[in-house]
Amino acid sequence: MMVLVTGGAGFLGSHLCDRLIEQGDDVLCVDNFYTGSRPNILHLLSHPRFEMLRHDVTFPLYVEVQQIYNLACPASPIHYQRDPVQTTKTSVHGAINMLGLAKRTKARILQASTSEVYGDPRVHPQPETYWGNVNPLGPRSCYDEGKRCAETLFFDYYRQHRLEIKVARIFNTYGPRMQPNDGRVVSNFIVQALRGQDITIYGDGSQTRSFCYVDDLIGALIGLMQTAPEITGPINLGNPGEFSMLELAELVLKLTGSKSKLVFHPLPADDPVQRCPDITLAREVLGWAPKVELADGLRETIAYFEKQHG
Ligand code: NAD
Ligand code: UDP
Ligand code: UDP
Repeated sequence: MMVLVTGGAGFLGSHLCDRLIEQGDDVLCVDNFYTGSRPNILHLLSHPRFEMLRHDVTFPLYVEVQQIYNLACPASPIHYQRDPVQTTKTSVHGAINMLGLAKRTKARILQASTSEVYGDPRVHPQPETYWGNVNPLGPRSCYDEGKRCAETLFFDYYRQHRLEIKVARIFNTYGPRMQPNDGRVVSNFIVQALRGQDITIYGDGSQTRSFCYVDDLIGALIGLMQTAPEITGPINLGNPGEFSMLELAELVLKLTGSKSKLVFHPLPADDPVQRCPDITLAREVLGWAPKVELADGLRETIAYFEKQHG
């Protein structure tokens, strides 16, 4: 099986490449290194079934593949807001090109969508049937609306061209290979705790998120790709354990033994108040549920940051 992973040099993409190589697939990793990095895939470069292509998915790509995982897109707010027009182009033009490629090669195609399609949700926890509460004009819109449009394209290609699509709505995921400076909360808190710097809580820290460990998430993506053709999603993938940012900070302090102090910064615009996946569908369709507890996943992630960046 020749499998294309776009965004394969990123955090989730590189773990996915690892798992696909392990299970015996040939992997073509496509990435423009916008937020991804060579060290994430360095260990794979000499593998006979792994190939790396530097390419921007907003441009057409002609290769022969049987499956496509479309993960290319910066995922952390500071990265996707640095060049918002490029973010929308990556989601929308990237989806069109990868769907065109899937149409020509008759490849099955999976889209890495996001819980951000629910915006600042008014329904809690969020089931897939919820249409969301998204600001179309704010600083997060390039990401949220780009991903929503990509979902629209996936379903139009499905209806119009009968493509085999799989749409995964991924909730906050963490683990080794997150970048220390990408601004996401788990990496920020761990790096700050390890360096003895203040822990930056945005707002009063009462906002919630649900954190899924990367190994659990990758298992779900591969499981979804293998489902019967009539399973299209969208399907929520995440860990329903819900924590406030204050609880997360306390847990990181406890696990690192750090004496860092909590400091409070203004809440960024349109920051969702709460987020928690309803994973009933994933349980039914994939027989999947996350296994790794937050404290255990954080221990692994802390160990990674200590080794890499300590
Ligand atoms: P990441 O930033 O580490 O990885 C994204 C990868 O895409 C990077 O390697 C980057 O260089 C590449 N990329 C960006 N624009 C590109 C382009 N135009 N052409 C080719 N490559 C491009 O982020 P991640 O956390 O690994 O996220 C991967 C995917 O999963 C993204 O689509 C993201 O939206 C989605 N997702 C992630 C999370 C999460 O919590 N990590 C949650 C929801 C959705
Ligand atoms: N495309 C691609 N690789 C392919 C086939 C298509 O990158 O192997 C791109 C191509 O640039 C096109 C887009 O995917 O613009 C959509 O393809 P589709 O066949 O749906 O549309 P059309 O070519 O008819 O505009
Ligand atoms: N956050 C925080 N301190 C930080 C970084 C983030 O309190 O140093 C908060 C942020 O405001 C948000 C939550 O943590 O409420 C999750 O942020 P992240 O950027 O990781 O993910 P997203 O907002 O995209 O879910």
